[in-house]
Amino acid sequence: MTERAAQAAFDERHRIVIVGGGAGGLELATRLGDRLGRRGRAQVILIDKARAHLWKPLLHEVAAGSMDMGHHELDYLAQAHWHHFGYRVGKMVGLDRRRREVQVAPVLDESGIEVTPKRVFAYDTLVIAVGSVSNDFGTPGVADYAMALDTPEEAKRFHRRLVDACIRAHAQAGPIRPEQLRIAIVGAGATGVELAAELHRTTRELVAYGLDRIDPEKDVHIHVIEAAERILPALPERLSKGIEELLRALAVEVHTAARVAEVSAQGLRLVGGQQIAAELVVWAAGVKAPEVLAHLDGLECNRINQLVVRPTLETTRDSNIFALGDCAACPWLGNAGNIPPRAQAAHQEASHLVRMLERRLAGKPLRPFRYRDFGSLVSLGKYSTIGNLMGALVGGSVRVEGTFARLMYLSLYKMHELALHGFAKVALDTFARLITRRTEPIVKLH
Ligand SMILES: Cc1cc2nc3c(=O)[nH]c(=O)nc-3n(C[C@H](O)[C@H](O)[C@H](O)COP(=O)(O)OP(=O)(O)OC[C@H]3O[C@@H](n4cnc5c(N)ncnc54)[C@H](O)[C@@H]3O)c2cc1C
Repeated sequence: MTERAAQAAFDERHRIVIVGGGAGGLELATRLGDRLGRRGRAQVILIDKARAHLWKPLLHEVAAGSMDMGHHELDYLAQAHWHHFGYRVGKMVGLDRRRREVQVAPVLDESGIEVTPKRVFAYDTLVIAVGSVSNDFGTPGVADYAMALDTPEEAKRFHRRLVDACIRAHAQAGPIRPEQLRIAIVGAGATGVELAAELHRTTRELVAYGLDRIDPEKDVHIHVIEAAERILPALPERLSKGIEELLRALAVEVHTAARVAEVSAQGLRLVGGQQIAAELVVWAAGVKAPEVLAHLDGLECNRINQLVVRPTLETTRDSNIFALGDCAACPWLGNAGNIPPRAQAAHQEASHLVRMLERRLAGKPLRPFRYRDFGSLVSLGKYSTIGNLMGALVGGSVRVEGTFARLMYLSLYKMHELALHGFAKVALDTFARLITRRTEPIVKLH
């Protein structure tokens, strides 16, 4: 082949564009880059509105201050360089299906100066993996007075306000006001429950670093508010009861069958009229897919903006476009309803799509995705980890607790890291983190 013919073949490569480099999208881009990009069999491009990736299930630890983000963030540019895919920064704002182009908004810096202009990216195959955001169900006051944990920036902002609240209470001349040092977490799914337990520990550790005018037992109050009859409604009742008892033992105030009517600067008002005073309100009461998906050039979406996909993960109205992870409404074969929005689902879907996109390039038919639920684990930080494991290996559904459950919980993140970095780098990183943990405060203080 002449040099010119080789260049033409290179330029004609199949273009796979992935929008969203989260739990699912970044694993997909990495593995496709290694398998197809490296050998020039396809051009793989990842578009993300952020510049660095942090695995979302770590966000409650960032918010509580038990994790330093810097040790876990991954630069998209570096990952793209190492794994033979291209990375473009920017937020997808539209789509032209006829021209097969993704439209991306300009990127501005903090001073409003343009970094990249409005751009379009052409694709042959498009994978949308933009995740989800919290759903406030139109509740008044949430946008102004509550914080979500959808992005690392939001988790960091919550943590800063938590530290500020403790320093303010320690430094002020007068007594602590009724709403001060009270935290209300709306939604007792895994995020809300895990955050409550982490906050119980980290507020005590924070105060122990010299903020001695605060008595955590008396002054710090954590409320968890859940609209359902019990916390963790997605878990078996036995487990949710056990975890509720643990939370109550930590003096976390649990309110079930309690619907929030309004959030204000003073805290919350419940539908029955009860007021819960709170200085910090976290909204973790359900998810929906980002608004942009509701207007994506006629692609079918459901009432929470998720793109409706076939079991092959192709969108129902365009077989050149796939969706995975939280933003996809994919039927759960063999079960009623859709696959739940979980990191383990995004991970499995990414692995499935790696194989299916290779088949697509080879002109072979696609196979349906079958989700395997390995169970759910809830980490109460250093206090406990509880959950149920499912599957043939353990013979159905088995309750697990303690060290074994903690190891299983950590293994989900390790699987994500292994998919991104391979064994040697994960082993080195884990070792490095073990060392730095011994030389730093056990809670982030700024
Ligand atoms: C605090 C917390 C704890 C959790 N704990 C668990 C757990 O223990 N176990 C579990 O299974 N799941 C857990 N989850 C859920 C889990 O994080 C999600 O199910 C998972 O991250 C979904 O992966 P994803 O790839 O679909 O989306 P995400 O991981 O959310 O990634 C989406 C990506 O898309 C990018 N993006 C968004 N919009 C655009 C746009 N318009 N243009 C360009 N880029 C865009 C974002 O920047 C992000 O990088 C937790 C979630 C939270 C918030």
